[in-house]
Amino acid sequence: MNILIIGSGGRESAFAWKISQSPQCSRLFIAPGNAGTGQYGTNVNLKVTDFEGIRSFVLSNGINLVLVGPEEPLVKGIHDFFLSDEMLRSIPVIGPQRHGAQLEGSKDFSKQFMFRHHIPTAASHTFTQETLQQGLDYLTTAGLPIVLKADGLAAGKGVLICTTLQEAQQELVEMLTEAKFGEASSKVVIEQFLQGIELSVFVMTDGKSYKILPEAKDYKRIGEGDTGLNTGGMGSVSPVPFADADFMRKVEERIVIPTVEGLKQEGIPYKGFIFIGLMNCDGDPYTIEYNCRMGDPETESVMMRIESDFVDLLLGVANEDLETKTLTISGKTAATIVCVAGGYPGEYLKNKEITGIDNVRDSIVFHAGTELVNDVVKATGGRVLAVSTLQDNLFEALQHATADAARIYYDGVYFRKDIGFDLI
Ligand code: ATP
Repeated sequence: MNILIIGSGGRESAFAWKISQSPQCSRLFIAPGNAGTGQYGTNVNLKVTDFEGIRSFVLSNGINLVLVGPEEPLVKGIHDFFLSDEMLRSIPVIGPQRHGAQLEGSKDFSKQFMFRHHIPTAASHTFTQETLQQGLDYLTTAGLPIVLKADGLAAGKGVLICTTLQEAQQELVEMLTEAKFGEASSKVVIEQFLQGIELSVFVMTDGKSYKILPEAKDYKRIGEGDTGLNTGGMGSVSPVPFADADFMRKVEERIVIPTVEGLKQEGIPYKGFIFIGLMNCDGDPYTIEYNCRMGDPETESVMMRIESDFVDLLLGVANEDLETKTLTISGKTAATIVCVAGGYPGEYLKNKEITGIDNVRDSIVFHAGTELVNDVVKATGGRVLAVSTLQDNLFEALQHATADAARIYYDGVYFRKDIGFDLI
């Protein structure tokens, strides 16, 4: 079968790597892809939100399945677009329709969903410009620190953890009345601060049954020791030692099952991934957020651990017979270290030639922000490469991934050398 992956990051590189190994995949395309995805399939120069362009490509290349990587096309309704078109309707799209994608597209929607289905999460209230005064009053009673979240998509920047009342009130005013995060902050969720360790749990569902993919921990801050600004993600590991069988049973019973059942009960069709960002608070899981797609750089570690034919699982989602599919997970440990551009997540260096990828010994290098310019691989994005390895234990995985990341060079290259060591 012919498969099209939509996206261009490390996540899509890892999907492409895994899918290209399946005997069921005849031709693989990645739109738009990057300098690395060409080794697994054919890059197609299309934007992820160019639905008309994607339509023409799918029809003229006999595409049998579309896997959507990032949230933007899902929230903008790429799946609905396929369903509303007579020619595209029969081609399965992996990723929810617009309604289900609201789990990520609107934090107010996802919080209300969690409350309706008694899914453990932080207490919260939502305010708009009309209810600004109530919001300011609420803050005086809410306790500190307090979390303010822009309702809509804000590229991971719309969440503020405020430590003083004055800061929280000022931020609320700026978000609601000065459109600090544009349309995304026309509603603001004010949420109780949860103290704990974060974990990413990934669920694959066909809308009827589900499979829990390997869990992962990601590292969001730019600096070692989890300091400095937030980024798209600096590394990940899987499995996560504290997510033992007992904890994962709680996650499944209290969060995964009520989420999948809740979607069913509310008649929200959902075929794709549910990424549950949760906090382990003294051994109990609390949901922080849902995403309607896989995470990056977690996917890189997760794909390394999946032994089953991934296309078979995707077909299970497409054909609503996921229950009959087998998911085999490696007991080894995967680690991913992300090499970023100098200056990232602020203004960063661009168009720097990358060398040394061939020197990497025990890892797979998943390209992210890279482009081929006159046959030269250049770093063009903030997160440039993800270096992933699978080893017998966490320590070895971290050692190999770190050593391999150090074998790569471009002007300004930076990566964290402490990813995962907090878990040892
Ligand atoms: P992402 O970039 O992961 O998509 P996002 O913008 O969708 O982020 P959230 O995941 O809801 O927003 O929050 C971002 C980060 O803020 C979380 O990963 C977590 O570290 C922190 N955070 C969010 N909510 C809380 C909370 N209630 N208590 C403590 N920390 C929180």
